[in-house]
Amino acid sequence: MRIRLQDVTKLYKHTAAVNCLNLEIKDGEFLVVLGSSGSGKSTTLNMIAGLEIPTSGDIYFNDNIVNAVPPGKRDIALVFQNYALYPHMKIFDNIAFPLRIRKVKDIGENVENIAGMLGLSALLQKYPKELSGGEKQRVALARALVRNPQVFLMDEPLSNLDARLRISARGELKKLQKQRNITTVYVTHDQTEALTLGDRIVVMDKGCLQQTGTPYEIYNSPQNTFIASFIGSPPMNIAEVRLTSSGSFALGETVLEFPTPPVKTPHVILGIRPEKLHIVPPNTKNSIKCIVEHVEYLGHESVCHLRISQNILWAVKNSETTVSVGDLAGLTFSYDAIHWFDQSTGIRMDLPFPGRN
Ligand code: ADP
Repeated sequence: MRIRLQDVTKLYKHTAAVNCLNLEIKDGEFLVVLGSSGSGKSTTLNMIAGLEIPTSGDIYFNDNIVNAVPPGKRDIALVFQNYALYPHMKIFDNIAFPLRIRKVKDIGENVENIAGMLGLSALLQKYPKELSGGEKQRVALARALVRNPQVFLMDEPLSNLDARLRISARGELKKLQKQRNITTVYVTHDQTEALTLGDRIVVMDKGCLQQTGTPYEIYNSPQNTFIASFIGSPPMNIAEVRLTSSGSFALGETVLEFPTPPVKTPHVILGIRPEKLHIVPPNTKNSIKCIVEHVEYLGHESVCHLRISQNILWAVKNSETTVSVGDLAGLTFSYDAIHWFDQSTGIRMDLPFPGRN
C-alpha cells in the first residue's frame, strides 16, 4: 500500500498540530516519524489511521482519498504506547482476537509463532493484570503483528521495554516487516529507534516537516541546525564562528588553522560531530587549546566537555585516552568533518568549500 499526505493540516482551535505536511510512503516501506514531544507525530499517525480527520489537505491510500474513511475500513493494524488489552481474556485470546474476528485458519499456530518471536510463550495462559508493563506492551505488539494488514501504524510501541528487550523487539519487528513487506509508519521520539528501524526517517518539529531521508542522510547531512542538534548522542556541536581580518576564522578568541569558508557574512555556524573531535596533548601543532571541564564515563567511551573561550564542545573519546577535569588539552579535527550552516536561517550550506570534494 502506498500512502500519500498532500498539504495535510490539522488545527486544534487555532494551533496547527500538523502544518501543511507533504509526505509519500512507498509500498512496503518502513517510515519512522521522529520528533520531540508535541511536534505533531501522533496527530499525523492518527490521521493516517482515521482516528482524526484532517482540517485541510488529503490522505491517499494508493490512489484513493481516505480522509473520512473510519479506521475499521482501512485494513490497518494499530499499536499504541498504552496497550489496551482485553482484561477478561487470557493473553492467548488477546493475541488471537484479530484472527478470530476475521475467521482466519491456523489460529493456534499463528499465535504461538508470534508469541515465540516476542518472548511471550510462557505467558499465553495468563491474564493482562498478571503481566508487567513491558510484557503487556509486547502482547499489544503481538496482537498487531499476528495478522497481515495492508498497513502497520505504531506509536511508541516499545517505550516500556527495558534496554535488552527493546533491542531484541526492534530486531524481530524489522525482520517481520521486511519478510512480509507491509507498509509501516512508526512514531517515536527516540533517535536510536529511528536510525535502527527506518528505511527512511521524517523529522518533525512544531507540526512541520524538517527533513526526510535515510538514516545515513539524516545523520551525515542534517539540513539545518535543529536536526543537527537533535540527532546523535551527544548531538552535533554547534558553534558560531567569525571571519577574522586575516581571512581565517575564529571560535571565540581562538583562531582556527583552516581555510576560510567562502561565505559573504562575517558570521557562520560550524557544526561538528563529537566523535570527529580528537583530544591531543596541549601544544600539539595545529591543535586548538581547550580546558577539560567535565568527563562523563559511559563504560565503552567517555564524553568530555571541553571549553574553548566561551564555547563548550563535546568530544567522545575511547577508554584509551586519559584526560582529567582541569587538564589543558589540544583539540584537532579534519576540515572535511565540518558542517556549515547559515547563521541567520540555520540552514545547511553545501557550498564547494576548499579542501572538500
Ligand atoms: P507528538 O505526538 O509529537 O507528541 P501530538 O501530535 O500529540 O505531538 O501533538 C501536537 C500538538 O497538538 C501539541 O501541541 C498538542 O498539545 C496538540 N494536540 C494534540 N491533540 C490535541 C487535541 N485533541 N486537542 C487539542 N490539542 C491537541
